[in-house]
Amino acid sequence: MARERLYLFDTTLRDGAQTNGVDFTLADKLAIAGMLDELGIDYVEGGYPGANPTDTEFFATDRKLDTTFTAFGMTRRPGRSASNDPGLAALLEAKADAICFVAKSWDYHVRVALETTEEENLASIRDSVRAAKAKGREVLLDCEHFFDGYKANPKYALACAKAAYDEGARWVVLCDTNGGTLPHEVEAIVGAVCKAIPGDHVGIHAHNDTEQAVANSFAAVRAGARQIQGTLNGLGERCGNANLVSIIPTLKLKKEYADAFDIGVSDAALHKLAHVSHALDERLNRAPNRHAPYVGESAFATKAGIHASAILKEPQTYEHVSPDAVGNKRKVLVSEQAGKSNGVAELERIGLKVDKDDARIGRLLEIVKEREAIGYAYEAADASFELLARRTLGTVPNYFDVTQFDVNVEQRYNVKGEQVTVAMAVVKVKVGDDNMISAAEGNGPVNALDQALRKDLGKYQKYIEGLKLTDYRVRILNAGTEAVTRVLIESEDEAGEHWTTIGVSPNIIDASFQALMDSIVYKLVKSKAPA
Ligand SMILES: [Zn+2]
Repeated sequence: MARERLYLFDTTLRDGAQTNGVDFTLADKLAIAGMLDELGIDYVEGGYPGANPTDTEFFATDRKLDTTFTAFGMTRRPGRSASNDPGLAALLEAKADAICFVAKSWDYHVRVALETTEEENLASIRDSVRAAKAKGREVLLDCEHFFDGYKANPKYALACAKAAYDEGARWVVLCDTNGGTLPHEVEAIVGAVCKAIPGDHVGIHAHNDTEQAVANSFAAVRAGARQIQGTLNGLGERCGNANLVSIIPTLKLKKEYADAFDIGVSDAALHKLAHVSHALDERLNRAPNRHAPYVGESAFATKAGIHASAILKEPQTYEHVSPDAVGNKRKVLVSEQAGKSNGVAELERIGLKVDKDDARIGRLLEIVKEREAIGYAYEAADASFELLARRTLGTVPNYFDVTQFDVNVEQRYNVKGEQVTVAMAVVKVKVGDDNMISAAEGNGPVNALDQALRKDLGKYQKYIEGLKLTDYRVRILNAGTEAVTRVLIESEDEAGEHWTTIGVSPNIIDASFQALMDSIVYKLVKSKAPA
């Protein structure tokens, strides 16, 4: 049977921009539009031209995209003609392939929020669609509050959708604006709408207020809708929009959908999905959600020893899809419960081939166990685990020694009479036969220590130029009778690769120093710096 085409519409740059704490710059918008285009998203909604300077500039900027680049805005204001509405005029002038209008479809909102008549709202929809079509644009209508409107007055909600469709809108998008509609309601209402408007002209725009935006999107597709609107990583106001990063692999990898539909995302593009998801977080300076379906670091992680040995033999036994399909990795965790197969698998993943009966495996697991008992957590610190493994197997060169360090924190008044706290660190490093002393100031003792340590590593300096710390987390633990500090440091290099290192000590500076040292040494190993 021929597969039907299902269209994806991304609103990360419009609805996603409503996310608390997210503020896209023009450069962000251009980069994200490029990523979405490469992924094969059919429609990219760029924003609201005329509403703010960034969006206005974005629409004025030249873009070379294959996607249908879409401008968002309101239908003409009630009581005005289409030709006498500056907002609509700006929207029609914007450089875009398509225009997505938003209109009320709940009679209550028409009366109370818009303060106009039901008939004038319908006329506004018809006039706006006609004006955009006359400008040669593809037209979409977002029916705001459609599901609540339909429950209150099905006839009027449908009349709004129908007005746009009859006037020639390519898509009528049913929006669950408040996000409270449940999947069985979505399925029933979309099914009813598709009796009046062909499903290949109907879209769904779901919000995640009951954690069911993705389920609601699929419910709409089952009922006949053929366009899904959503955002990368489920960004969006309140609890977010439907997450395209979860929707895309389900459409591609689950038989029910893969057999029935074609989407614009190729198998090759699907491999980049994890990367796209993480790259967006990177841009927004947010820590990726480890537990995100399909693309999270833990999405294919297994802890118990018995599962690990089964996974190595037969991955399908514990995985619903192949991690490779979405560009993710299988991860077998090393922990107290680690069996030998975990150890071997984890070593293989980091590129160390060791025989299962090699005595050093047993020794490594012993060391991991001892260290975890005093507070180390190697599951959270992949790079420190790799170094420990490499050291136990005897393959990490002794690049340099820190022979002494000194950290000083001082609170005083500066020349302006303001109270300031200044940290200063001095580090003595021995690289081969060279002894070096570096000093640096920092906004705190760990920052100063980091700056001083990385100031001059002699012949190794060039390998760590691109290294930067992206996250620093501290926890106080009770190990045995004493409280100890666990420090986790996340680092990034010039290639955008991330790793985490760990340090544990009763002293926070010492714990931080261990994690900093591991990060630098890991970078040198990774860069294949000569011993
Ligand atoms: Zn929305």
